[in-house]
Amino acid sequence: MVPIDVCRAMPKVELHVHLEGSIRPETVLRLAERNGVSLPADSVEGLREWYSFRDFRHFVEIYVAVSGCVRTPEDIEFVAREFLVGQAEQNILWSEVTYTASTIAKLAGVPWDEQIDALNRAMVWGKDELGVEMGLIIDIVREQSVEEGLQVAEWAVKGRDRGVVALGLSGVEGKGLARHLKPAFDLARESGLPIVSHAGETQGAHSIWEVLELTGCQRIGHGIRCLEDGELVKELRSMGVVLEVCPSSNVCLAGIPSIAAHPIAEIHEMGVAVTINSDDPPMFGTTLSDEYARCSAAFGWDEDVLRGMVRTAAEASFCPDRAGLIERL
Ligand SMILES: [Zn+2]
Repeated sequence: MVPIDVCRAMPKVELHVHLEGSIRPETVLRLAERNGVSLPADSVEGLREWYSFRDFRHFVEIYVAVSGCVRTPEDIEFVAREFLVGQAEQNILWSEVTYTASTIAKLAGVPWDEQIDALNRAMVWGKDELGVEMGLIIDIVREQSVEEGLQVAEWAVKGRDRGVVALGLSGVEGKGLARHLKPAFDLARESGLPIVSHAGETQGAHSIWEVLELTGCQRIGHGIRCLEDGELVKELRSMGVVLEVCPSSNVCLAGIPSIAAHPIAEIHEMGVAVTINSDDPPMFGTTLSDEYARCSAAFGWDEDVLRGMVRTAAEASFCPDRAGLIERL
């Protein structure tokens, strides 16, 4: 078993983590107080209790409430800087961070241009002061209309020279729910912007097939239910699609009883490329380093296996200097 301090010190790459879901509980409380947002808890302990999710929909409700505490460009810059500090403390050299700009625009009224400016201030600071970098995945939420989806895709395409590395898809999975968003994914694809998509987290193999066909995505967020369909496993393997697996998140939300019962080890053994990620770390009582240590303890993975997964993540990343990143690892 690889100890947590070794996991923390190991240079890493993270492909699946949400900025709003990474806000430290202390910061959530401070933002709520400063911005006059009322939350059902006023202490860190209370927030931790509030983060006990009944199901995925309940999680989304709480996630949106936390996002609602971010009201200004200064707030965005602050949470992004704090995020980068947390990544630097764990030696995460490159992170691909999902950020739901449309929620911030809707709840706080901050225009896209001001959001991307604030994020870029934090990114420049993180690179200069901390030596860590991040790329942005701007995501469409499944419940959005085609017009809203197109708006997000336009922002993402426009943001390519300002740190946006991909268009994402998140929200509550359900059969056929993403079909209407096809024009938004076509727009991204025609502009050469990569697409990544959450699927196969709470829904089965059909949901993964759907996003593969709909978006042509190169990576799948979660994808853990691929084992239900042998043909799908073959397809993922032959297409080289990489799964962004978030074990503790799945224990909290996807009905998996424990890390030891998580299918990541079996998926890895079947030859599908997997990476380890933290998703919304404070909400699931974890960090990326903890995810590595927990998997090592549960599956007997040694340092070589973990380093192999870091390398898979680097190779599947959209880092503009991918070769340089691999070199630094
Ligand atoms: Zn996610």
